[in-house]
Amino acid sequence: MPNTTQAQGTATPRIGVLAIQGDYDAHAQALREAGAEPVLVRKPEELAGVDGLIIPGGESTTFLKFLERDGFLGSLQEFVRSKPTFGTCAGCILLATEVRHPAQASLGVLDATVERNAYGRQIDSTIQTGETRLPGGPLEMVYIRAPRVARIGDGVRVLAERDGFPVLVEQGHIMAATFHPELSEDRRVHRRFVELVRDWMARASESNRQSDSKTS
Ligand code: GLN
Repeated sequence: MPNTTQAQGTATPRIGVLAIQGDYDAHAQALREAGAEPVLVRKPEELAGVDGLIIPGGESTTFLKFLERDGFLGSLQEFVRSKPTFGTCAGCILLATEVRHPAQASLGVLDATVERNAYGRQIDSTIQTGETRLPGGPLEMVYIRAPRVARIGDGVRVLAERDGFPVLVEQGHIMAATFHPELSEDRRVHRRFVELVRDWMARASESNRQSDSKTS
């Protein structure tokens, strides 16, 4: 029998980019550069063919309107509960368990309280360079009307901070950034997510193999 774990570990993951609003093309290009095959996801049924998903930046209220109108929200909710998902900016807002300023509905899989547009209107966009836990030195981070992660739960790991608040976090199969990594040339953040997806695929195929051997 072939070693499926190893085969999956080196496979090119198919990663969806939610393409109903926002800067999805830049994410698709970044995924390609990070070794994944991007798939633009516009309909709920397209989620079935991908190993992971990026929810891009944009306007979270507009995302919610489209998702509710197209009956997409339920399928997306199911997907993010079990499959690797990376939310950037508005995507981070959608993943959080609690949204403030103002309060709004969310997918509730990242144990965090996120405040929308937390840096004010005048200085709402900025590019900063800071330390992260990713190897390879300081990282450029592009913020556009960024939210602030005001609280995180115990299970959330912080990979980078801005002024003492988390800006890049991981929690199991979920990753979130309050900045736009797709707008910088550095591909370390996307590579990290591609790795997470690969690990997830390897683990899923290992547990399938184990349950197959139990039933045979
Ligand atoms: N301010 C936006 C929101 O509240 C997020 C901005 C972004 O994604 N660049 O949804």
